[in-house]
This record gives sequence, structure tokens and C-alpha cells, in this order.
Amino acid sequence: ILEINQVSQSYDQHSVLDHITFGVEKGQLLTVFGPSGSGKSTLLKSITGLLEVDKGSILLNGKDITDQKPHERGIAYVFQSPLLFPHLTVKKNIAFGLEVKKLNKKEIDMKVNTLLGLLKIEDIKDHYPNQISGGQQQRASIARALAVDPAVILMDEPFSALDSALRTKMGELIKSLQKKLGLTIVFVTHDLNECLYLSDEIVLLNHGKIVDQGATHDVYYHPKTIESAKLMGEMN
Ligand code: ATP
Ligand code: MG
Repeated sequence: ILEINQVSQSYDQHSVLDHITFGVEKGQLLTVFGPSGSGKSTLLKSITGLLEVDKGSILLNGKDITDQKPHERGIAYVFQSPLLFPHLTVKKNIAFGLEVKKLNKKEIDMKVNTLLGLLKIEDIKDHYPNQISGGQQQRASIARALAVDPAVILMDEPFSALDSALRTKMGELIKSLQKKLGLTIVFVTHDLNECLYLSDEIVLLNHGKIVDQGATHDVYYHPKTIESAKLMGEMN
């Protein structure tokens, strides 16, 4: 469903991504895994269009989206810090994208209620972002991202600010939503446990280059190079 072809990116003269190529199939969760500074966030920003790519192309459902604006791409993005409008309730935050799309009120209500249920945040639907916990804010952000039925959802270390128990719980929630709704997700983390638990596929990134890629089990148990074995070990 999503194809990244030979994407390179640099800040000033400094190369940050070097000929990155991989694909994500529909319904799959692919994790971009790598140490701090390896280029993970830059890669996601290139996919959403927040950054213009220097070289290469990005295809979604066979269509070249390399030059499309972020909001035209049908790709949703969940950041490390929750992205919510402070002056809107949880419910209104989730409804926002649907109101922009001019859906009628009944459709919006139905959709919002479904999402509140899926993310288990019905009880806080009338709260404002500053009245709920970090974990709840992140659930609301995910609901908001899902509301517009994106073709692909990108998540950049969405749970790294949460404590480890909550983090595990959120991981389980993502996995169950992926299965239940058939979501296609590109997930970024540098937490090995989270990576192994969530991923169908892994792209292992170091210094802006792909060191290894493939099914999670293969990348972890049968690394193709010494560098990838070493990197996996170091990230444990
Ligand atoms: P982390 O795990 O810490 O979030 P990351 O893998 O997401 O790291 P990036 O944020 O993509 O890494 O950064 C990759 C490289 O690009 C780093 O060397 C960083 O210093 C550099 N970089 C990132 N953003 C900019 C920018 N706006 N201007 C210049 N250099 C940048
Ligand atoms: Mg990052």
C-alpha cells in the first residue's frame, strides 16, 4: 500500500537519510527501529510531507504522492506529545477532522462514539485536554487520527513519555486495533520490547541507512550482517 523508493534527505549539506527503500502492505504494522539520531523522525516527516524529500519518491496505493501537501495524502500522524486542541473537549477534538470534511451531525456522532469506545475513553469525552492524563491524551490523539479513515497511520514514539506499565497497555491496544480495524501502521521506537511485540516487519536504521529489513522474527533471530546483529544487541 505504501512504497518508499530511494528516498534521500539532508539538512543543509548533512545527509540524514540515504537511499531508503521499503514497502508496507495493507494491514501491516512496520516498525522503523534504530538509535537516537538515526533518522527515524526525519523519515516519518518525509512520508507525511512535513519535509520535502530531496531525492526519491513515495507511492500510496500506486499513486505518486511525493509532491502532495500533507493534508492531501490520506496519511495520519501521531507524535510523541499528544496533539490536541486545548480549547476543545475530547469529543470535539475527535470530531474536528470530520467537521472539516462536512459530514452530517449524525454520522459524526456515530463515528466519534465508536472511536471513544474503541479507545476506551467514553468517560472523559467532555473533558478538556488539560483535565486528563498523558495516557488519556494519547488515546484521544489516536482516536482523532483514526477519525478520518487514513490509509496509513504514522506513529513517532507515541508512548515514550508514558511509564512502562501504561506503555505495555497502549502497545496491546494498538495491536488489537490493528487486527480489529485492519490498520496499516508505520511505528517508530527505539524500545526493543515494544518493537518485537508490535511489529510484523522491521526496518532497522542506523546513521540514515537501512542496515536490515524483513519479518520481525528474521531480523531478530537471523540478522543479515554483523552490524545489524550488533545494533539489535546494543538496543536491548
Ligand atoms: P530520536 O530517536 O532521538 O528521535 P531520530 O532517529 O528520530 O532520533 P532524527 O530526528 O530523524 O533522528 O534526526 C536525524 C539526524 O538529523 C540527527 O543527526 C539530527 O541531529 C538531524 N536533524 C534532525 N532535524 C534537524 C533539523 N531540523 N535541522 C538540522 N538537522 C536536523
Ligand atoms: Mg525521533
